[in-house]
Amino acid sequence: MTESSPVRATKPKQVRPATEGWTQKKDAEGRPLLQFASPKRGKPPVHLADLTPEQRAARVAELGMPGFRAKQLEMHYFQHWTHDPADMTDLPAAGREEFVHGMLPPLLTEVRRLETDRGDTIKFLWKLHDGALVESVLMRYTGRITLCVSSQAGCGMNCPFCATGQAGLTRNMSAAEIVEQIVRANRLISDGGLGDPRRVGHDGERVTNIVFMGMGEPLANYARVMQAVRVMTDKEHGLGMSARGITVSTVGLVPAITKLADEDIPVTFALSLHAPDDKLRDELIPVNSRWKVDEALDAARAYFDKTGRRVSIEYALIKDMNDHAWRADLLAEKLNARGRGWVHVNPIPLNPTPGSIWTASDVPVQNEFVRRLNDAGIPTTLRDTRGKEIDGACGQLVATEDDQAVAAATPLEV
Ligand code: SF4
Repeated sequence: MTESSPVRATKPKQVRPATEGWTQKKDAEGRPLLQFASPKRGKPPVHLADLTPEQRAARVAELGMPGFRAKQLEMHYFQHWTHDPADMTDLPAAGREEFVHGMLPPLLTEVRRLETDRGDTIKFLWKLHDGALVESVLMRYTGRITLCVSSQAGCGMNCPFCATGQAGLTRNMSAAEIVEQIVRANRLISDGGLGDPRRVGHDGERVTNIVFMGMGEPLANYARVMQAVRVMTDKEHGLGMSARGITVSTVGLVPAITKLADEDIPVTFALSLHAPDDKLRDELIPVNSRWKVDEALDAARAYFDKTGRRVSIEYALIKDMNDHAWRADLLAEKLNARGRGWVHVNPIPLNPTPGSIWTASDVPVQNEFVRRLNDAGIPTTLRDTRGKEIDGACGQLVATEDDQAVAAATPLEV
């Protein structure tokens, strides 16, 4: 850094994380409450995508149909993105409706759709069978289409900067509710609904990349998220997507990271670190009170050793809170201490919120942060904050009061 650098010119200011406009729930010891278990609520109806191929055949038999009908339903659902019995003329007309309903019950009712970037980014608000609300964001980039999916309604991790975490955890989503977000997006894309059809060709296009960065902490809903990932990647009985295009992110649930490394599915793994020192991270990411920075980084490195997949470190750059040059140096030191070539860092400027302590770092500070990491040999790229115009960037997904009113007036799909 040069003498005239704006970062060095004044003594670094330290803003400490604090909630604004809401009160963080605390446990008996006064620490931010962490909710790992999903509250007991009525479960969503069982759906084809919740089941293994063997279970599907058994369920089809229970509904009085021969086993091969399961394969037909898989084709309709995973390749033609439909659960409408009227589209399934290869099934016998007698009893078709009941049968299809029994295997592919409606799971998501669309409440709202917001478009930006000339239609290249779409945020969906969905109502689940019990009225819980979740969101997903679909984004067209050059050469790929990414869907940011939710894995829980709400979130129990209580991060003070996060809109989703404020209301706590409503419930875990089922595997099929997670998969259905993709199926609905694929349907929309094939109908020409993403982007200006005069500008882009839609033939054969579908979602290519998934990021688990919508509502929820995916590793707190481990079994269902893994079933959803299996369905996404299954070429014969599922969506046949590439595991490499699927990013599972976490705020650092260490035992679950270890478990994920042992699965034979080479998904991309992302650790939302946001601070390299425990003092700050304890406040910024309450789960750090369970698993410290070093433990999370060790687990991330072990993920690389096991899978050979380079790990992503996500780092929201927040003005005067975690964007100091010394923190970039400390992060580089901690990553380099665990070897070379196993990790890359994605700093993402927080959405600018004037007047809030939660606002984006200044551009020179962002650039300095990135430069220091790169100079230390850590590949680092500032991430696109696509979707911020519609509050669809990470940590921004939450149903507003208005959304809730519209949702209440929207009848469930039947
Ligand atoms: S940032 Fe992620 S883990 Fe933290 S509360 Fe929000 S959704 Fe949950």
